[in-house]
Amino acid sequence: CGIIGIVSREPVALRLVEALKRLEYRGYDSAGIATLDGGTLDRRRAEGKLRNLEARLADDPMAGTIGIGHTRWATHGVPNETNAHPHFADGVAVVHNGIIENFAELKRDLQAEGAHFASQTDTEVVAHLLARYRNGGAGRREAMEKLLKSITGAYALAVMFEDDPSTVMAARSGPPLAIGYGEGEMFLGSDAIALSPFTDEVSYLEDGDWAVIGREGAQIFDADNRPVERPRRRSVGKQ
Ligand code: GLU
Repeated sequence: CGIIGIVSREPVALRLVEALKRLEYRGYDSAGIATLDGGTLDRRRAEGKLRNLEARLADDPMAGTIGIGHTRWATHGVPNETNAHPHFADGVAVVHNGIIENFAELKRDLQAEGAHFASQTDTEVVAHLLARYRNGGAGRREAMEKLLKSITGAYALAVMFEDDPSTVMAARSGPPLAIGYGEGEMFLGSDAIALSPFTDEVSYLEDGDWAVIGREGAQIFDADNRPVERPRRRSVGKQ
C-alpha cells in the first residue's frame, strides 16, 4: 500500500523504514525492505507492524546505499512474511502497489518455462518476467519496456537489478508515485509526505510513465517510451 525507494551514497535501510512510517496512515498488514550491497540483493520482511521490521533490522542490520521498501495491503495471498514484498527472482527485486490483473496466465506461462514461485502474490510475476527478459538478453530498460507491455492492471512499481548498483526503476499505472530530488541522492515514494524528511522538491509520474532514477537525477519516459519532462515542484515542505 506504500512504496519507497532511495538511491544514495549513504546507507539507506533506516531511512527506508522512516519513510514507510509516513505511509502507515494508508493501512498495511506487513512490510519489507531490500537493499543492494556490493552487488548482492538482501532483504528483511515482517508480518504486522513496522516495529516488527525494525526489530528484524536491529537484530540483523543491513548495509547498502540503494534500496526499496513497501507496506503491503494484501490482495492476492495471505498477509505473511513469505508474501510480503520485496519479491526476488534471479537478480531482480520488486515492490508493487495495486493488482496485476493478468497475473494468473503470466504465472502459468512462467511456471511452464521452469520458474519457481515462492509466494502466492500477483506481484511475483513482475520479478520473474523481468528476470526472464534479462536472461533472454534484454538490457534493463528494454526489460522494463517489455514488462509494461505484458502486464495489465493497476500498479505502482519500484525495481532494482542486482547488476546495477546505482539505479532504481519505477513505473506507474494508477496508484501515484513521486520522485524526490536530493543533493547527490534521489528518492521515490507513493506521496510527497513519505519523502518529506529528505526533500521537498518532487515531480509526479503521470499515468503510464516509467522512470530510471540515479543518484544525480531521473529520466522519465511516457507510455510510448518517449523521454518526457514532469514539472518539479515544492511539496509540503521538508520536515
Ligand atoms: N497485490 C499485491 C499483493 O497482494 C500488492 C498489494 C498492495 O498494494 O500492497 O501483494
